Amino acid sequence: MKFGGTSVGDVAAFERVFHIVSTQIERRPIVVVSAMTKVTDALLAAFETAKNGDFAEAFASLETHFERHVEVSKHFIPEGSPNLFNAELEFARGELSDLLMRVTRRSLPLSMLKDAIVSYGEQLSSRLLAEVLKAKGVNARQIDSRRLIVTDDEFGAAQPLIDETNELVKLELGSIVAAGEVPIMGGFIAANRAGETTTLGRGGSDYSAAIVAAALGADELQIWTDVTGVMTCDPRICSSARTIPVLSYEEAAELAYFGAKVLHPKTIKPAVDNSIPVRVCNTFEPEEIGTMIVADSAETPNKIKSIAHKKNITILRISSARMLGSYGFMSAVFQVFERFRTVIDVISTSEVSIALTLDNTGELDKIVTELERLGDVEVDPGYAVICVVGEGLRASTGLASQVFSSIRDINVALISHGASSVNLTFVIKEDEAADVIKKLHQEFF
Ligand code: ADP
Ligand code: ASP
Ligand code: MG
Repeated sequence: MKFGGTSVGDVAAFERVFHIVSTQIERRPIVVVSAMTKVTDALLAAFETAKNGDFAEAFASLETHFERHVEVSKHFIPEGSPNLFNAELEFARGELSDLLMRVTRRSLPLSMLKDAIVSYGEQLSSRLLAEVLKAKGVNARQIDSRRLIVTDDEFGAAQPLIDETNELVKLELGSIVAAGEVPIMGGFIAANRAGETTTLGRGGSDYSAAIVAAALGADELQIWTDVTGVMTCDPRICSSARTIPVLSYEEAAELAYFGAKVLHPKTIKPAVDNSIPVRVCNTFEPEEIGTMIVADSAETPNKIKSIAHKKNITILRISSARMLGSYGFMSAVFQVFERFRTVIDVISTSEVSIALTLDNTGELDKIVTELERLGDVEVDPGYAVICVVGEGLRASTGLASQVFSSIRDINVALISHGASSVNLTFVIKEDEAADVIKKLHQEFF
């Protein structure tokens, strides 16, 4: 059972989590929890402030967030009884102060310090949840995920080393669960082989939960969040969005990748590989079934199940007359992206040019310099990717026409269709995204 940040935002949220966990205690749950809502952002902001030289401000900015934890702990843990959370918090304050000071002084590699700092969100939330559940009579035990999930050294986006992780998870959690205890782990955080703290990328708690579910062959992976399952589009954009009862793994993966924030893209993989059904459910409406994600799902009559979007996209266009009738050009282009470890999202080619989109532009300048050796390069920021997903989309006639006629007044910068059987993806100006999604939602749902 994975609980996201909004599911552990305040006293009422912890109360809801207690009810959800305790009603499923017979199923022998393992709980994976995110940082309390806004805490990860606050820790990252404190890191930036310290990096800019203002240690005092960086540390002070965290106080309100520490307070939110204290408020929850005070509410549930009776005064006078031992409060392990307070001890943990004092310890965390000391360590965070030390780490932020090191950032200001640059006394260790920054990427390493950043992960160490941001990991306190989940370290604290998992300790707090364990103490709250214990105070309410659940036989809970906090487990430090950094002892179980082993990753490579890519701070900020670490890849789990699956064999080692599986072994540790089975060894450690297997016996705890067998003894009737409920392990409470922080999501998102892990450690490399040297024991240094790493993180799995933003939204990575879903991934942690999937890794644990896969390692133990769980009956089900439940992703508890603040909406009822995966919906026909982001409910924040279109209030008429509806819950999708069943999605295939492939559909869910496309949706997650193209911005349906409700699931982390990588969550799907360990679950698919081990045939574990994933259920996305709402902590505010726990009796609703939510969305089941299963190996295969049937087509819906209108073929389209959901519309995902991702903003802040940059288009790169590379054109070269040398490309006419020649081979090796694509490979040369892709090698540049490989060298700078940058993911390409959508791609479209013609005889003499390639257009592609990037989400992460951290290495853009270097990439452009390299690509300019191959041809003319144009950089165009400020776009959004819209991804229409549904089983059977590629095979059906007239859908592309229906999609584009419903947004006939919008300029489409790039289209990709046919690579996957379940999606139609196109790129438009960012400020038109909300309007386009509303129009498509109106047309298909
Ligand atoms: P958590 O903290 O539980 O991990 P997230 O904020 O990561 O929650 O994801 C849940 C949010 O994802 C929802 O509040 C919703 O606004 C957003 N979202 C985007 N697209 C979709 C979609 N297609 N279906 C459901 N939610 C979506
Ligand atoms: N707390 C982390 C984040 O905000 C991980 C997660 O919530 O999944 O990105
Ligand atoms: Mg999330």
